[in-house]
Amino acid sequence: MLDIQNLSVRYRKNLALERASLTIQPQRIVGIIGPNGAGKSTFVKAILDLISYTGTVTYKNKPLKGQMKQVAYVPQRTAVDWDYPATVEDVVMMGRCIHIGWLRWASAKDREIVRESLVRVGMESFADRQIGELSGGQQQRVFIARALAQKADLLFFDEPFVGVDQTSETIIFQIFEELRNEHKTLLVVNHDLGEAVSHYDDILLLKNRVIAFGPRETVFNDENLALAYGGKLSRFVDSDGSTVVLS
Ligand code: ADP
Ligand code: MG
Repeated sequence: MLDIQNLSVRYRKNLALERASLTIQPQRIVGIIGPNGAGKSTFVKAILDLISYTGTVTYKNKPLKGQMKQVAYVPQRTAVDWDYPATVEDVVMMGRCIHIGWLRWASAKDREIVRESLVRVGMESFADRQIGELSGGQQQRVFIARALAQKADLLFFDEPFVGVDQTSETIIFQIFEELRNEHKTLLVVNHDLGEAVSHYDDILLLKNRVIAFGPRETVFNDENLALAYGGKLSRFVDSDGSTVVLS
């Protein structure tokens, strides 16, 4: 399990995240939800030790810092330089680098894992294409293939559905569910409260602090949504659970 205690991040005077404490159980898809500027990306980057923070982050009772091989991260698409000259295959092979090490060649097994990861996201026929030439949804699927190739246990995705077509979204959620069933833990930032929320097992509702965390059904109530979104939402409950729609 991933245990986060008193995680705080300050950018100069701005307290972006205040003492977030929660324990994430294995084999869950966790949706990290909250309005713009709520500290969702900050929360993920602090856990991954990409920015400075205070608090503790442990995984299986040891500091996560020493276990980064277990962690895959797909950053927000806007944070990626899409003009960087790399083929689809190169990008996915980066997921193997952590295992191959520097100044060593990729083995036949690494190549096989890269191929199999591309097949899984339906992008194998694009292996030789430049990453910059692809559509948003295709680029996102390639980055997900990179995360798959890494064979990590703990996977983080920041806004994976922004600028992504419906087909890619469906494929991505399908892969998320397969990964969960393979005993992996997924943390997915998603600012959009649409039907998509029904794919998450647990919800972390953030507004620069933890508003609520737990099973989806318990988190989405009027009080929590008002705290996070300031009454700018209306909630619709449909037959198969709670669906939340922005008004
Ligand atoms: P979210 O991902 O939920 O939209 P962020 O984590 O990106 O929110 O940002 C949380 C808050 O921290 C916002 O007020 C944002 O303006 C601020 N912030 C984010 N990154 C930086 C930074 N590098 N320097 C200063 N302020 C930042
Ligand atoms: Mg963000």
